[in-house]
Amino acid sequence: MVNLVGIIGYPLKHSLSPLFQQAAFDHYGLPFRYQAWEATPKELGAAIARLRHPPYRGANVTIPYKEKVLSLVDEVDGEAKSIGAVNTILRKDGRLVGYNTDAPGFLWALREEGGFDPRGKRAVLLGAGGAARAVGVALLGAGISGLTLCNRTPERAEALVSHLTTIAEQRSWSASIAAIPWEREHLKDALSHSHLVVNCTSVGMKHSPTEGRSPLEAVFIPKGILVYDLVYNPLDTPLLQEAKRAGARPLGGLSMLIYQGALAFQIWTGREAPVAVMMEAAREGLVG
Ligand code: NAP
Repeated sequence: MVNLVGIIGYPLKHSLSPLFQQAAFDHYGLPFRYQAWEATPKELGAAIARLRHPPYRGANVTIPYKEKVLSLVDEVDGEAKSIGAVNTILRKDGRLVGYNTDAPGFLWALREEGGFDPRGKRAVLLGAGGAARAVGVALLGAGISGLTLCNRTPERAEALVSHLTTIAEQRSWSASIAAIPWEREHLKDALSHSHLVVNCTSVGMKHSPTEGRSPLEAVFIPKGILVYDLVYNPLDTPLLQEAKRAGARPLGGLSMLIYQGALAFQIWTGREAPVAVMMEAAREGLVG
């Protein structure tokens, strides 16, 4: 019997997951088919309920449902609980278990591709949505000593600071966590004291209203800092171009996308994922 897995979100037109996940299953000749399951908010409950029976094995969950599915599964893994978001579901003995592979996928890429160990370092996060939540928890768990959050809507940055502070206290992670206004002078000052900046906003994303725009200009980016853009389409984002102009180190979002997918693949199949095969398929999908 062919196992079915897929991605649940809305809209799904630009998702690369079907391409690189199917390439991984085919590489090993595994009887899995990966599909795109676009679901409107009204259809979400039914889309999750369907996963409870064969031939469904599980799913990925993406925008805008990563938070909503927390209450629709039977069990939530510890890290997904801390983050407050699920991006991977596994059907296990008829029960649905929710995981978050964004956080470990982010760290894997940061260490492997960025050569960066967060322990004792300071970082600035741009954004306060689901991705910023996962990145914040990942960095705190990895020993970052200072986290500065900056978001267009300040209330969301303040709310994320409270959430992360609570998690850090519960886990005995010591770090200073604060929010600053989305203003040039504040950002410039915070960046000058940091080793890493992560763009967790959608600014610069292809097909979005901010396509072609960078959330930071080169004059604000200190030389030598690691500039990590979670946006992966286009591969060379406007922010990465500004980073190179400033003499900073650029890191794009494609490797995180592949690593979070590789961890989901391992959850569904119990096998190590063919990361190079997945990367190649995603690159082809982006440039082809
Ligand atoms: P989200 O929950 O919708 O959050 C979007 C964030 O972007 C918010 O902080 C929002 O600020 C900010 N934003 C949107 N438009 C803006 C603008 N014009 N100016 C300034 N800020 C703006 O989305 P998400 O799930 O966190 O995803 C954010 C980005 O990360 C997306 O591009 C997504 O593709 C990417 N991502 C990549 C990976 C990967 O594997 N590489 C994984 C997850 C996410 P407000 O609060 O002010 O609206």
